[in-house]
Amino acid sequence: MEEGWVVVGLDTGGTCNNATVLHSSGRFLVDALVETPSRVLEGPQVAIEALAEAFDNVLSLTGVPRQSVRAVGFDTPGPATADGVISRRGATNFSAPDWHGFDFRSGLQDRLGLPVVYNNDGNAAALYAHHAHFGMIASERSSVAAVVGTGLGGGIVESGNVVKGAAGMAGEIGHVRIPLDGVLADDQPVPACNCGQYGDAESVASLTAIGKNLLPYWLGRYPDHPLAALPVATAAKQVRGYAERGDELATKVFEQQAMALGRLFTIIANITDPAAYFLGGGVVETQPHLRTWFLEQVRTHTTLREEQAEQATFALVPHLDMAGARGAAIGALSAVHPL
Ligand SMILES: [Zn+2]
Repeated sequence: MEEGWVVVGLDTGGTCNNATVLHSSGRFLVDALVETPSRVLEGPQVAIEALAEAFDNVLSLTGVPRQSVRAVGFDTPGPATADGVISRRGATNFSAPDWHGFDFRSGLQDRLGLPVVYNNDGNAAALYAHHAHFGMIASERSSVAAVVGTGLGGGIVESGNVVKGAAGMAGEIGHVRIPLDGVLADDQPVPACNCGQYGDAESVASLTAIGKNLLPYWLGRYPDHPLAALPVATAAKQVRGYAERGDELATKVFEQQAMALGRLFTIIANITDPAAYFLGGGVVETQPHLRTWFLEQVRTHTTLREEQAEQATFALVPHLDMAGARGAAIGALSAVHPL
């Protein structure tokens, strides 16, 4: 290995761990996805061992000696505190009672004997998008990232650092309520979110929203649509494929999602006035014509002042499958060696 030191990025999810190595010069030593089973269903101790294996594995893959590692960046799906304590009420991926209130970051730190720097997965993806886009000038720029998946995650980056907040809950952009006039059809019910609110961004712009809110409404308008014959959870996942083929119902669903994201970005424009608006998730892992159209729709529905529009960039989050591990590593590098 070249001179210098490294940080390791570890991303854990419901099924897989993904690992990467980031050199102190800012270069990633791993180009591909390095996935191993996360074993989170078997409880905290087994999951920590699985992460330790992922750590050893990525070091041997890159030929980096353990003593070159200064810190570990670690990210998980939320909800968790800013220090990586899983919510006391549990979380979708950490539902067993052992996980409730479990200090995942400290557990991993004790096991590895190295400083572990935590970010939630939305914040890690936001950090990666920001640094991949801005490179050397990352510390002089701000951005917001929205990642449309099962829920609507993301994060807010200011001067190259993610905004975490007092309780670690800053940048929970999915649960910001948005104006819905013009987004919903006249007879469309105001959608509910899993968080208990009505009409927040996630209640429209997420896979959960398609299954719970958008698809049931639009299938009522298109009762002969082939998706009407499927269980709603299966049908929700197929909307994307239909949209790629130009299907009318699927296009309406995506139009509503793009509009909701534009309304959300409009709110954020008035709070942090970011230089870049990033979009990631299933919705943009589609055929180029659909994702280009979708990004353009989001941009159209984001209302910016003229001065802001001259500054603002709209872009997709690159390498989304690696964004968690890479963003976690960037978080650790910034902690060891502040921007
Ligand atoms: Zn919500």
